[in-house]
Amino acid sequence: MNKKEFFALLECLVSGEKMEKHHWQSLLSLYVSDDESKELASMARSVCDKQFGRGVYVRGLVEISSYCKNNCYYCGLRCANKEASRYRLTKEQILTCCRQGAELGFNTFVLQGGEDPLQTNQFITDVVAAIHHEFPEKAITLSVGERSRDAYAAFRHAGAERYLLRHETASPSHYARLHPSAMSDAHRKQCLFTLKELGYQVGSGMMIGSPQQTLRHIAEDFVFLDELQPQMIGIGPFIPATGTPFATSSAGSARLTLFVLSLLRLRFPKALIPATTALATLLPDGMERGILAGANVVMPNLSPIDVRDKYSIYNNKKSSGSESAQSLQQLATRLGEIGYHIDYGRGDYPA
Ligand code: SAH
Ligand code: SF4
Repeated sequence: MNKKEFFALLECLVSGEKMEKHHWQSLLSLYVSDDESKELASMARSVCDKQFGRGVYVRGLVEISSYCKNNCYYCGLRCANKEASRYRLTKEQILTCCRQGAELGFNTFVLQGGEDPLQTNQFITDVVAAIHHEFPEKAITLSVGERSRDAYAAFRHAGAERYLLRHETASPSHYARLHPSAMSDAHRKQCLFTLKELGYQVGSGMMIGSPQQTLRHIAEDFVFLDELQPQMIGIGPFIPATGTPFATSSAGSARLTLFVLSLLRLRFPKALIPATTALATLLPDGMERGILAGANVVMPNLSPIDVRDKYSIYNNKKSSGSESAQSLQQLATRLGEIGYHIDYGRGDYPA
């Protein structure tokens, strides 16, 4: 593709015009070029600056259980992983994390976990209600997997306003290579549309560089995101996890992750897009690189310190330093060094 074609595609991208899969694929194929990557990152960053200024929202992440009934091939928490250390937090422990988060200045809590059969829909509803009762002004985000419509409605009613559920890969055939046959992309996508209908701000997204993923699959992800129109989009590189069928696969490319992040920012200017822990795990300056490519959220870890290592979705997952809620000063310093600052606001999707 020559420069002229590149800019023509970028114009479609920014104007929101319909883009076909092959258009996305052409754009994605440019990630190997330094010039185009830099140009894209700086365009994405300026779109983000215009929409959100130089503030970066912080969300306090509480990892509520490392038990999971599912068996996703890529994830260290999969039920068949006998090497995984398991824990589940009680309601009181989760509330204690939120209280600490409130003291530290957080206005959003994200409760994330495996699909733990003992953290029933009723349990999640009770926890959400208790947090909402104590902190009615704060935004509660859930990320507890695929549940029934009734369960999602009950969580919403109890005070949860946002839900993170990555679609992982929009391609049915690729999805089937990453998951056992009991799981389906169709069901996961249906959950996302249900969550939207129930009035949640919805976050979706995909791993970059999961085994056998091609640029064509990522192009399909863009087409799906165009249809879903999520308010939040989380992407991070795939990182191998011990005790999984993909333990010896190579990690995804940080460079491609950053490129995709910039494309997402240009296509979804108002979206809340985190610089993910996976990116920070792969690159020492992954957080800064994510922000400079168009991200505007970070999710420091608020889980009890003694369980952090057990929430081992992938190997060497970072939970200290700027990834820790207890080190906000360090995060502030690092953001300051690139001209940004922490925004402690709720960080809702702009009207
Ligand atoms: N059980 C919930 C939430 C926990 S998993 C769910 O699946 O939605 C949160 C996210 O971690 C997943 O959506 C997936 O995208 C990511 N993840 C899992 N294994 C990973 C790996 N090996 N490398 C990178 N990200 C991974
Ligand atoms: Fe469970 Fe989520 Fe991991 Fe799949 S990705 S095994 S659903 S924690």
